[in-house]
Amino acid sequence: MTLYRVAPFLFFATTACALSAEPVARPEPAPTPTPSTASGPARPPAGQLPPAIPAPPAPVREEFRISGKLEQGGWIKGLVPMGTVSARLGDEEIDFDVNGAFFAAFDRDEGPVAQLEATLASGKVVTRELAIKPRSWDIEHVNVALRPSTSSEAFRKRRAVELEAIWTSRQKDTDAQGWRKDFIWPVTGRISGRFGSQRIYRGEPGSYHSGLDIAGGAGTTYVAPADGTVVLAEQDYSLEGQLLIIDHGQGLNSAFLHSSALLVSEGQAVKQGQPLGRIGSSGRATGPHLHWSLVWKDKRLDPLLFLPPMP
Ligand SMILES: [Zn+2]
Repeated sequence: MTLYRVAPFLFFATTACALSAEPVARPEPAPTPTPSTASGPARPPAGQLPPAIPAPPAPVREEFRISGKLEQGGWIKGLVPMGTVSARLGDEEIDFDVNGAFFAAFDRDEGPVAQLEATLASGKVVTRELAIKPRSWDIEHVNVALRPSTSSEAFRKRRAVELEAIWTSRQKDTDAQGWRKDFIWPVTGRISGRFGSQRIYRGEPGSYHSGLDIAGGAGTTYVAPADGTVVLAEQDYSLEGQLLIIDHGQGLNSAFLHSSALLVSEGQAVKQGQPLGRIGSSGRATGPHLHWSLVWKDKRLDPLLFLPPMP
């Protein structure tokens, strides 16, 4: 009986080296030998190997495979070429799993062309040029001078500490898997601010709006748009108020600002659809709304490009 047995774990044991295995065809577990019956197939005599069945040729993936939103603030998911040892999008290193699956994204001001590049174990370099569709952002020209900063020394010190903590939390690699799935709306309501919108003050551009504002009503519960791990849960940041940051894995993370209550704590794993907090106007906000921003590495993304139409 043991002649038939092929240890299935051997297939997986060899995949520790990234991308040595083709992910498309997951190996079938070896059939469990069944006791032969009168009507069953004849077994070879003990000590003799069954006739060899030729294995189908392994599929070869020599190029990147991608799908997604090839536009400013958008994203792609896909597979790196087989045998890839390192990959990048422009200057940004791409993480990929043992099967070669990866996520990457495009900044608000990306383009018009971005380049994917993979270095294979053989030393060969595979590249792919991506045309990134430009967007037309909401730009408002105002005949007012850009307000000079009047912040105090005390504020600047406090702000530096907060920005450092935000940056540190975004570097955490929690192995969250939310990047793999389609996102859902954290809450529905009137869109009160769009990603990318910007004011130009007498020719001088102000900083653009880095997230999506949803005016869902004070106290309304919002939920996790994708699986993740809480990497920051702060009660009182100067601009963000109650601030929550969720890592979705592979360098992708969400931030939720201005909450009136946080329902999860740092280090906690959250599932898509799980309540995270309640909408408020803490920090610098003119009224209750959820500001949701999405970041991949250093790139700022448009949450609307991750979502189906609002239900
Ligand atoms: Zn906002």
